[in-house]
Amino acid sequence: MRIFSGIQPTGRKHLGNYIGAITQYVAGQDRGDPAIYCIVDLHAITVPYEPEVLRERVLDTTAILVAAGLDPARCVLFRQSDVREHTELCWLLSSVTELGRLNRMHQFRDKSVAQRDLVSSGLLMYPVLQAADVLAYRAHEVPVGEDQREHLELMRDVAERFNARHGDVLVVPEHRIPQVGARVRDLQEPDRKMSTTAGSEQGRVYVLDEPAAIEKKFKRAVTDSGTEIRRGDDKPGITNLIEILAVARETTPEEIERAFADSRYGDFKVAVGEAVVEWLAPVRERYAELRHDEAQLEDMLALGAEKAREMASETVADVREVMGFART
Ligand code: ATP
Ligand code: MG
Repeated sequence: MRIFSGIQPTGRKHLGNYIGAITQYVAGQDRGDPAIYCIVDLHAITVPYEPEVLRERVLDTTAILVAAGLDPARCVLFRQSDVREHTELCWLLSSVTELGRLNRMHQFRDKSVAQRDLVSSGLLMYPVLQAADVLAYRAHEVPVGEDQREHLELMRDVAERFNARHGDVLVVPEHRIPQVGARVRDLQEPDRKMSTTAGSEQGRVYVLDEPAAIEKKFKRAVTDSGTEIRRGDDKPGITNLIEILAVARETTPEEIERAFADSRYGDFKVAVGEAVVEWLAPVRERYAELRHDEAQLEDMLALGAEKAREMASETVADVREVMGFART
């Protein structure tokens, strides 16, 4: 069972990333053979960015992942741009990717309207590069949040179309979405997902936020009408808080509803804030220890890139051959 997932080097990862993706990555280390995790810096250039900041953010993200429990000896942790096979395979796969489909992708639509100066073609091609990321490793399983469902469907179609045209070379991956916390919502606008690029600072809890900031954001979280602490489509704010607390306490949403049956919104929000602070504290501490040693972080990434290159180059050689190019 090969597991693959990518995460953007925005550095300031939020609770949605942590619950929807990072905790799954950590769990995947025991099941994956191997579990491969990629910091997707090539994806980060699809929107305006600063080169110097990007370099820093890759190291921030590496440190967060290791602080959260990824062990570079037990998984493959690397930087996407270190393995050139991703870009080559992206181009090769573009030949079996339908343009209309890319154009209709929700993420492309949302992110392109947010651009002031330039909607880059990279933003449109984003899902093709993402397909290349996964397919290069012939991964079976892709742990991601709910927002990635559409991209996963596309990469499955790309793999199927490629195999239909050129023979059974690629593995069609399955997605793995967590039972609880697949879509952590913005604390201020619970109708939308917590996002790095959309929504307000107050609605987004960062893994590395100071405890006081986390508590404040939860205290001010937007709740719904009524007074009951229960989940429901009519209660997106409270449902979100129940799920977050269930994950932080490693219990079920049902158990949280039971425990807070007689509580009021205000006390409940305080309890969620405190639980999240406690849950994230060790990650924040380890991050502080790890982040300053950049040479060590670079060594970790170099080790990962070496292992990744070995797998990806094998796939790309097979793809090149069946597509009519010289075998490398
Ligand atoms: P952006 O909003 O710019 O796309 P992002 O916050 O989605 O950024 P990514 O690096 O694109 O961050 O996502 C990393 C992982 O986190 C992906 O697997 C994604 O599905 C997951 N994820 C992102 N937001 C949430 C969320 N609100 N709830 C659960 N999982 C999420
Ligand atoms: Mg995203």
